[in-house]
Amino acid sequence: MKFDLEDDSPKEECGVIGIFAPNEDVARMTFFGLYALQHRGQEAAGMAVADGQTMSTYKGVGLVSHVFTPAAMADLKGHYAIGHTRYSTTGSSSLRNAQPFMIETIHGPLALAHNGNLINSAELRNELMEQGVGFSSSSDSEVMTLMLARNGEGTWEERIKHAMKKWVGAYSLVILTRDCVYAVRDPWGFRPLCIGLLPSGGHAVASETGALQTLGCEAIRDVKPGEVVSLSNSALKVMQALPPIKPSAMCVFEHIYFARPDQIWDGVNVHHVRQRLGEELAREMCNNSMDVGLMADVVIPVPDSSTPAAIGFSHESGIAYNDGFIKNRYVGRTFIEPTDSLRKRGVALKFNVINENVRDKRVMMIDDSIVRGNTTGPLIKLLRNAGAKEVHVAITCPPIAHPCFMGVDMGKHDNLIAHKRTVDEIREFFGADSLYYLSLDGMMRAVGRQGGFCQACFTGEYPIPVDMSSVKTGFEKVTK
Ligand code: SF4
Repeated sequence: MKFDLEDDSPKEECGVIGIFAPNEDVARMTFFGLYALQHRGQEAAGMAVADGQTMSTYKGVGLVSHVFTPAAMADLKGHYAIGHTRYSTTGSSSLRNAQPFMIETIHGPLALAHNGNLINSAELRNELMEQGVGFSSSSDSEVMTLMLARNGEGTWEERIKHAMKKWVGAYSLVILTRDCVYAVRDPWGFRPLCIGLLPSGGHAVASETGALQTLGCEAIRDVKPGEVVSLSNSALKVMQALPPIKPSAMCVFEHIYFARPDQIWDGVNVHHVRQRLGEELAREMCNNSMDVGLMADVVIPVPDSSTPAAIGFSHESGIAYNDGFIKNRYVGRTFIEPTDSLRKRGVALKFNVINENVRDKRVMMIDDSIVRGNTTGPLIKLLRNAGAKEVHVAITCPPIAHPCFMGVDMGKHDNLIAHKRTVDEIREFFGADSLYYLSLDGMMRAVGRQGGFCQACFTGEYPIPVDMSSVKTGFEKVTK
């Protein structure tokens, strides 16, 4: 059993990477690429490597640096590789659902790693089971792998294109055959996937540009919605397998929380977006008759993802910025059960307060989002115990009132504190002096685009029609 000491953040399902690098130690490169994607999933990691003839894979439960020992990587030889870091809510099935999935097919070995969630995976799984196909996991990524293996004649590009016509939902994929890496993005463009030129002349593709920069890539561009890009040569081969859906539905939460601040997505830098979110928040509060400049003595972020927003808020409001919390970055999930007295400390196991920075002060606490609402109240209490006179809370996105079906673990409607509660009821529940959420318009002004983003967890308007009674969020299913 595992004990989750994570904070109240939405959880991303994973990060993916694919590399074609002739004459290089591609497994080692994949390891460092995965290392840069660790924030997108800490439960399991894996990679598959091919040398033009054969393929080998290794995966395990835990952080990238724990899974890949020198001994584990000794047999991973070749010029083509894909890798995966996974977040999941489960304990026992973690290894079963770890990726890449690798199988032998009539067309040669095949491995696949996936970021996202197929909305119609239950239906596709049933279709395959009726045809006598068995499964070793409960993951939709295995469904995708087996569908590719069963598609008939033609090239791998044609088989991928054929399968894409049946896949409904979010998928940024890397696929490995014995002599090619394919990068595939769904036609809505939910999750990011970017591609870059390696100094040696090969190519790499990854969930975030930061991983590509780690590998020394230049000339980075996004894999476009609906594209299949083949990495097997010095020149990229690009196929528009499905027409891109207009407007696109990029996940706005990549900007709010998931992506590392150095990520550039669709030409926009995430760090700058987060600073603008803080500026918009301060401006909007003023426009709503709140005398922001006078209501607090210090602005503090809930680290780490809220730090740029708190800096932006401070610039715009004129309130001094300071650190108030120190977060233990190494506390996440642990197999060691806390003692009863430690368990009662809750978020204090993860956050310490710098008392001198908040004592006798009116504090403006900036956070990126509130999902289940199990952290905000305890953080406010920590600040009050440290001597804060008042604690105001400002959030850089609107209330999250609807679950995500596209690969982000936010729980179900009943788990979300903003579902069927007013802002004032939530404020009272937390014990905050005030609570303000940025508006949808303010959030999109900070992102710098008005359209092309999924905002369903705020609005309930899903880019793909969702039948609530039959669809799972993509997370409870892995507990079977
Ligand atoms: S529902 Fe929210 S978290 Fe899910 S894809 Fe849309 S914006 Fe992202």
